Amino acid sequence: TDFGYQQVPFAEKAARVRAVFESVAGNYNLMNDLMSGGTHRLWKRFALSQTGLRPGGRALDVAGGTGDLAAGMARQVGADGLVVLSDINAAMLQEGRNALTDRGLVANVRYALADAEQLPFADSSYDCVTIGFGLRNITDKAAALRSMTRVLRPGGQLLVLEFSHPVLPGLKPIYDAYSFSVLPWLGKVVAKDEESYRYLAESIRRFPDQDTLLSMMREAGLEQCRYHNLSGGIVALHRGYRL
Ligand code: SAM
Repeated sequence: TDFGYQQVPFAEKAARVRAVFESVAGNYNLMNDLMSGGTHRLWKRFALSQTGLRPGGRALDVAGGTGDLAAGMARQVGADGLVVLSDINAAMLQEGRNALTDRGLVANVRYALADAEQLPFADSSYDCVTIGFGLRNITDKAAALRSMTRVLRPGGQLLVLEFSHPVLPGLKPIYDAYSFSVLPWLGKVVAKDEESYRYLAESIRRFPDQDTLLSMMREAGLEQCRYHNLSGGIVALHRGYRL
């Protein structure tokens, strides 16, 4: 669409995102497990192993949704640290809050309804910022990358965990067949929502490949940028530092 984010008020934009995510919020974790065969847990575990967080650290999970990354980071920073779970969608944020509270993660976690393109946090606030399977859904990705870089303290790092483009020979045709037939079918049968899962497959195909995202991160001002392919490039973890 031709909506620049400046012209779209937060409430209106949140409503459009909600149309996609509210219908999946309740089934979200079940669908993640089914679609990835449980592998999304391993991808997230790998991302968490790279945060470099220590007890007492401060972390921000952007587009955090159901809060898997925030939960892991809350354990890493411990009682003296702080993790902020943020999302543009109130229903997803509430799902995240319930999930973390159920796991006993309460004292060192805060919640913020926030647009990744205009994060309402002070400069240089966090040791680590994560965004897991969120950048793909954001309209102005460059603005989001700049905003996430701004809130990092010097020396802090941004981790972007996102679907990417398969690099293993022979994997791409199988993966395409899976995304464009199995995925919408699963969406129809389990979540009663074929359209949202068709949108998912489309958004994955359109998302910048590994090297393009790397240059976007450099343009946002991040340094020492690199990435690590997971599952043959179906997913990639990108990392960059604010120096
Ligand atoms: N990080 C979680 C995970 O890995 O399970 C949730 C990922 S979910 C696929 C994507 C999330 O991005 C949704 O919760 C949605 O509300 C959020 N989102 C979409 N656009 C956003 C924006 N502009 N700013 C912040 N969050 C956004």
